[in-house]
Amino acid sequence: MKKILVLGTGGTIASVKTEEGFKSSLDINEILRHAGIKLHNGYEIHTKNILNIDSTLIQPEDWEIIAKEVYSGLRDYDGIVISHGTDTLAYTSSMLSFMVQNPTKPVVITGAMKPITEPGSDAVKNLRDSLLFAMEAKIGGIFVVFNGKVMNGCRVSKINSVDVDAFKSINYPDIAYIDEGGQIKYNANILDSYSRPRGSLKLDTQYDPRVFVLKLIPGLDSRVIDGLLDMGCFIGSDKWNF
Ligand code: ASP
Repeated sequence: MKKILVLGTGGTIASVKTEEGFKSSLDINEILRHAGIKLHNGYEIHTKNILNIDSTLIQPEDWEIIAKEVYSGLRDYDGIVISHGTDTLAYTSSMLSFMVQNPTKPVVITGAMKPITEPGSDAVKNLRDSLLFAMEAKIGGIFVVFNGKVMNGCRVSKINSVDVDAFKSINYPDIAYIDEGGQIKYNANILDSYSRPRGSLKLDTQYDPRVFVLKLIPGLDSRVIDGLLDMGCFIGSDKWNF
């Protein structure tokens, strides 16, 4: 029997209306129960709630926690789904692509723009599509599944904060689409050229906290750059320091 691991981390998908607004509070079992997902025979789902926070609160230490769970899960499971808030989902999927190297099985990150508890939530479709891809994918890797699109985890960006089609794969074609009937339609060109593992599964959770993304805009005060240099950030390489 094939086994799928579903990890919960919080976000809008896990939110419930409270007097102070929506709060991330459902655990992953409650989310799946709300979604009412029926699995094909032959699959077993195991769940684990590793965080329950709005993804805007996620820190680099949390990427390490998620990466370690994924790495150990890949040994015992045939596929992994991570339920995550959408605001920093693209950062987590990108970091996982570097922290968990050479996966031969699918690791899918998804979320929703509307809480699972709200009528018409996109959570049911996104979870159903993610489970399907985690169970049936022909390729391994870190993927984002959202609004029927299967995207390369280290290429996605959140491009819309309202629409259910909130993510786009930047400078890289979508890997597949999942139709309403639950059929995975691969992009044939990508499937042939999709990078295959170059070694055995490896966990590398090191990161350099001095990495900072600075958007250069007209009128930027040079003291911002001086401040970053003082903090130990360098530009491009040590040689380019100014
Ligand atoms: N603020 C939420 C989060 O990123 C938004 C969402 O999940 O859509 O956790």
